[in-house]
Amino acid sequence: MGINRILVIGAGTMGRQIAMSAALAGYTTTLNDISEAALAAAHEDLEQWAATRVAKGKMEQQTADAALERLASTTDLDASARHADLVIEAAVEKLEIKRSIFGKLGKVAPVHAVLATNSSTLASSQVAAATGRPGQVCNMHFFNPALVMKCVEVVRNEHTTDTTVNTVMEVARRMGKEPVLVQREIPGFIANRMMGAIQREALELLSGGVASIKDIDTTARTALGHPMGPFELMDLVGLDVIDFIAQATHAETGADADKPHELVMQKVAEGRLGRKTGSGFYDY
Ligand code: NAD
Repeated sequence: MGINRILVIGAGTMGRQIAMSAALAGYTTTLNDISEAALAAAHEDLEQWAATRVAKGKMEQQTADAALERLASTTDLDASARHADLVIEAAVEKLEIKRSIFGKLGKVAPVHAVLATNSSTLASSQVAAATGRPGQVCNMHFFNPALVMKCVEVVRNEHTTDTTVNTVMEVARRMGKEPVLVQREIPGFIANRMMGAIQREALELLSGGVASIKDIDTTARTALGHPMGPFELMDLVGLDVIDFIAQATHAETGADADKPHELVMQKVAEGRLGRKTGSGFYDY
């Protein structure tokens, strides 16, 4: 299906960079948020990002200007959804909010429009029914920072049609991404499941007294070629976020392997959340 206009809902960490990726790929793009301040901050941030790329010689001034020109901002969801061929929802991670957004999209967006969510923990089947067109709904999961990371996980729910999957994969490719297809819904999709397994094993090695935090991280870098070790990464993401993901996954699967880890819970209780609080597994 031909996609020309993309609407991105939510101008936070993810939404602003997804919108810029779409604009750079040549799509007429609108960024929507309930907050004027978030939209203004997003524009300022993207202008600065583009200026830095141009200054470093990594992007032509003309390319940056054209992309920013193609990128509009609005707090009016109804008006912007009315012309969208593809909607990528990247609003706050709250099911009730996402359901209400998708309910509105089902009423307002053109009948052909594909409706995707960037959610990391909420599967599209949880919002699909609200749209009245579940076959045109899926997860389109970008990674942070979305302007840099190549992976996009396209996750189908049990109703998602092949046309929807192909459309979303094609858009991701045009954005310069390497999309992968997740054939059925599973908490954590592919990347976060694999990362969870590595983090779990790292925590077990530490709590079993097998090796130190530093040596486990060093091994991940020097033997496995990872850009950073699991403890460095957990500190970077935030231990509260790591714990939240584990709690949500465990609540859904009930699997022992998905249980939140004591060591992480202890750090969260102490307020040592990683880099953002100055200490976590490491002191900063
Ligand atoms: P964020 O908190 O940075 O931004 C959320 C934005 O949504 C805010 O600007 C807020 O004003 C806006 N918002 C809230 N309610 C809204 C509504 N009803 N309509 C429009 N906008 C609304 O969040 P984020 O980190 O960008 O995460 C957004 C989504 O992306 C979540 O679903 C999350 O699971 C997913 N995600 C996040 C990451 C990450 O690393 N942060 C990675 C992949 C996916």
